[in-house]
Amino acid sequence: MDVHLIAYTKFNDKLFEWLTGFQTEAAATSVDALAEAAGRQCYEAWGRRNPATSTNQGYLANIIDHQHYSVLEHASATFLIRGVSRTLLTELNTHRLLSRSVQSQRYVHQEGREVVIPPALRGTVHRQALEDFHRQAEELYVQVRNDLAEQGMPRKKAREAARAFLLNSQPVDMIVTGNMRTWREIIAKRHHVAADAEIQELAHELLNWLKSLAPFSFQDFDREPIGNEEIRRAAA
Ligand SMILES: Cc1cc2nc3c(=O)[nH]c(=O)nc-3n(C[C@H](O)[C@H](O)[C@H](O)COP(=O)(O)OP(=O)(O)OC[C@H]3O[C@@H](n4cnc5c(N)ncnc54)[C@H](O)[C@@H]3O)c2cc1C
Repeated sequence: MDVHLIAYTKFNDKLFEWLTGFQTEAAATSVDALAEAAGRQCYEAWGRRNPATSTNQGYLANIIDHQHYSVLEHASATFLIRGVSRTLLTELNTHRLLSRSVQSQRYVHQEGREVVIPPALRGTVHRQALEDFHRQAEELYVQVRNDLAEQGMPRKKAREAARAFLLNSQPVDMIVTGNMRTWREIIAKRHHVAADAEIQELAHELLNWLKSLAPFSFQDFDREPIGNEEIRRAAA
């Protein structure tokens, strides 16, 4: 799995200051500063009278505490995600507010790619079995696609039919965009011990990126999956 932050919102804080007089905290990231500006805009609360909310961190902690989440919708982050399984894609697709551009199996040849090994199979004898099964599936895919194409079927239609032979663990690449509120929803549900192990790994990567992009919009999330501590406590 390969996850890269490739685009994100840049707040024009100088223009905002010129328009409203509100000066962004120098240490705040662009994404966190935009969320604070949006919140302050609601109440024209340009002064920093309350010490608890006078910093960007304090202000956004209060926003999160009061679930005033719409202010987190203005900034977005876009990720290039490569080498995840089609199973993971199915799960990610349940998050309706994401925007995605996914590599097409109808237009792109699928052979010669590395199978995605689920975390629980890494380091077990079943890993080799899955790799062998994947190779056999690929061979069948190529054979069927080429047969159909030789019979005169358009290549797109031939790929479309032949992909039925591919496994759930076939890799896929995509570009995915979400706003900060949506990413928070996804982290809450998928950086969680109850979630599928592969999507937990993705959520972990995403959270690392998001915490550097907008540390205070994600200040209530630990780097450890939600629920881990309870499991440790129960086992002790
Ligand atoms: C551990 C786990 C197991 C799961 N197992 C399954 C499973 O077996 N089968 C399955 O089908 N799914 C399963 N899911 C997916 C799950 O049911 C949700 O579809 C998924 O987590 C997306 O959540 P969401 O709808 O809150 O997210 P989003 O689609 O991102 O929506 C975000 C929020 O927007 C609001 N919203 C969005 N659309 C609507 C709407 N139409 N009406 C009202 N409010 C809306 C809701 O507040 C929602 O929480 C599983 C998820 C997890 C985390």
